[in-house]
Amino acid sequence: MASLSTTVPPPAIRGGAPAFSERFRFIKPTLPDFQSVISAYQGFYAAGMITNGSLVQRFESAAAERLGVNHCVAVSSCTSGLMLLLRALGVTGEVILPSFTFFATGHAVIWNGLTPVFADCDPDTWTIDPADVETRITERTTAIIAVHMYGNPCAVDALEGIASRHKLKLIFDSAHAFGSRRGGCPVGQFGDAEAFSLSPTKLLVAGEGGLISTNDGTLAQLLRAGRNYGDPGSYDPDLIGLNARMPEFNAALALAGLAILDAKLARHNAIATRYTELLSSVPGLRFQKVAPADLCSYKDYSVCVDPGAAGITRDELASALLAENIETKKYFYPPMHRQKLYRGYYDGRQSLPRTDSVSEAVLSLPIYESLSDETVEGVARAIQRLILYQTAGDDHSQAR
Ligand SMILES: *Cc1c(COP(=O)(O)O)cnc(C)c1O
Repeated sequence: MASLSTTVPPPAIRGGAPAFSERFRFIKPTLPDFQSVISAYQGFYAAGMITNGSLVQRFESAAAERLGVNHCVAVSSCTSGLMLLLRALGVTGEVILPSFTFFATGHAVIWNGLTPVFADCDPDTWTIDPADVETRITERTTAIIAVHMYGNPCAVDALEGIASRHKLKLIFDSAHAFGSRRGGCPVGQFGDAEAFSLSPTKLLVAGEGGLISTNDGTLAQLLRAGRNYGDPGSYDPDLIGLNARMPEFNAALALAGLAILDAKLARHNAIATRYTELLSSVPGLRFQKVAPADLCSYKDYSVCVDPGAAGITRDELASALLAENIETKKYFYPPMHRQKLYRGYYDGRQSLPRTDSVSEAVLSLPIYESLSDETVEGVARAIQRLILYQTAGDDHSQAR
């Protein structure tokens, strides 16, 4: 093994040449052809219809058809969508949600004056663990929010079973998951409702925007009022709403984005497959488990670094990769129960060991449609080289 350290070239942090001569972007959204967006928008713009027009309705219908649901309600963001959903569903008391998520999931809970209760994640899928959810239910619990992490569909059946047995509302934060499928079913069809994000780091892009999908017509109607200050049109609001409308331009962008979504899904999946192929033999890396029947959007592709076997911590690997001109992200670290705004809601008696271990180890690699195969392979090779250098170096130092 010691001879390996002489064959593995030194990494950039040890004075070697970086894997990439220049830093490239961590995320670069592929947007639909500008002309197709403008041609849909132009007439409305000329007529002065830049909000509350029919492009939003057209986008909602197209999205509802794509997702196979009765109703889609376009909103200004996933965050505002989650805020309105909790309000419209009349959620009170405690809401169970994962700690391993983006903090917007929790913000929506706090904005509604509700109490977040964190549940642990599954160690393999990194989505909320239904068995752990069940242990956190109290007489004050009224809802569960689950997150399709990186687009990996949650254990939907188990969560729906728990929600119906305990009479809880079930909401999915599907920010990552437009285009994902659970078995044959598009994500969007589950629980009481699902909320998608259409911001530029996600696959379907509206510029800024969100979308709620539901089969509940009464809920959809309340959400339409909710995004319009709560006003159904009578000037006598039905609920304390927001201005969370989607502008017409954003709807034009999202409508055109639907046409290129399948190509993006395919490319994200091809990149994820390639990363896993190239990295599966590297010691000390773990991968997110996606059920064979499911389709993950791979909004992000992340690995977990086990420092014992890799000879390098997640943070050391991230720094070493940056020296190679490869930017990575720690999606999502720190977990919510370790963030200053949420620590107070975390009851330390019920620990979240799997959330802590995934969050401390997780590293997200660049993944987007225009990333070339060559770049993907370069990133994987750089990780492989760093870990080999490290493990070989350890053997070498031990031999001395
Ligand atoms: C991006 C994201 C959100 C927020 O979406 P916005 O549309 O920016 O409000 C919510 N939840 C998760 C898990 C996200 O990643």
